[in-house]
Amino acid sequence: MKFTSLGLSADILRAVSAQGYETPTPIQQQAIPAALAGRDLMAAAQTGTGKTAAFTLPMLHKLAELPAGPVRKVHALVLTPTRELANQVSESVRDYGKFISLRSTVVFGGVNINPQMKTLRQGVDILVATPGRLIDHLTRRTVDLSQVKVLVLDEADRMLDMGFLPAIERILALLPKQRQTMMFSATFSPTIKKLATRFLNNPLSIEVAQANSAASTVTQMAYRVDSARKREMLAHMIGSQNLQQVLVFARTKRGADRLAKHLEQDGISADSIHGDKSQGARNRALSDFKRNNIRALVATDVAARGIDIDQLSHVINYELPDDIENYVHRIGRTGRAGNEGTAISLIGADEHGQFRAIERLLNKKINLDVMTGYEPTQRETSDKPRPRNNQSRRTPSRDFSGRGKQQAHGHRKARREGGFSRSA
Ligand code: AMP
Repeated sequence: MKFTSLGLSADILRAVSAQGYETPTPIQQQAIPAALAGRDLMAAAQTGTGKTAAFTLPMLHKLAELPAGPVRKVHALVLTPTRELANQVSESVRDYGKFISLRSTVVFGGVNINPQMKTLRQGVDILVATPGRLIDHLTRRTVDLSQVKVLVLDEADRMLDMGFLPAIERILALLPKQRQTMMFSATFSPTIKKLATRFLNNPLSIEVAQANSAASTVTQMAYRVDSARKREMLAHMIGSQNLQQVLVFARTKRGADRLAKHLEQDGISADSIHGDKSQGARNRALSDFKRNNIRALVATDVAARGIDIDQLSHVINYELPDDIENYVHRIGRTGRAGNEGTAISLIGADEHGQFRAIERLLNKKINLDVMTGYEPTQRETSDKPRPRNNQSRRTPSRDFSGRGKQQAHGHRKARREGGFSRSA
């Protein structure tokens, strides 16, 4: 199938081909014609499947067809869980809409609200927002959502996980009932389905990604190692394999900072990214990483959400996530858009229960090996998954303020199809 057969306008097709995309991904093939026809969508798709273009392209097409009024009104609203994802979506809106004269902006917490207010006052057609900051704007009456025609809930499962349900309910109450709603979620728990029943109108269900199976282009490996030697082994791995761009996951914000410092001491340029860092510092670290100014970026789960780096080859789990579902999200940073990727996990003596729980979740055995010179001396201490670490939930970063975990993930059941290619 070709992009030209989806019904998109010439200006959008031009932008798509400027991105180097040749064929629509499975989610795009299914979502775009339905969205153009005005259907509500409930799509199960992980990041890396091309889901952003799946909702952005038809959204731009439809908005470009609206008659231009004297002032720009928010006609499309995209809600995302994190600032990083909001930025990512906003960049895609700009890229795909570069031959269309629509104005878009992005608002999220952790940065000065005044410039956002100014941009909103000047009028925008498309608003990408995290729920917390959008509520701030609504309270200040600096944004009007009464003309929204298209609503996208991106990574809806994650938004619920982060306790955004009350904020979403408040926001949705202000939107016109007559609108198109597209909901994207890596997983479809009963809570998500309930949300869909409340806010979507006869949605078309699309399932292209097996939520609990990692992208087929990612090779997964794991090494048993004493926790005390993980740092040394990580530096050795990056150095000896001459890895130039590695996303490393740590469990805590302080742990991420410490590890980045240690890697620097070991001669590997590194920085960290997490919710306690200012937006400026996070952007800097991310752009240094994207430009290959640093070799390792050490991230916590929340901060890494939405990071989209073309052709990132390696993800290393320095520590396994407390919430095992995050494992899928972590390794989804690599092996994107049909590229090959490698995900390596370092398994300490107290992480074997967690590791097995991940294998059960994926319904797949991951090769567990030992690296010569780093043979573990400690015995496994636990066969049970580690209790969840509540630290980040007790002290959430500003955008997630004070909202506790709302929902336990339920059974997941989306389905994945093959990869796709790009020419540039
Ligand atoms: P997403 O799932 O939206 O985060 O997209 C994952 C990656 O796939 C991004 O880097 C996109 O630029 C890329 N992408 C999206 N659609 C296509 C396509 N049709 N062909 C090739 N790459 C794509």
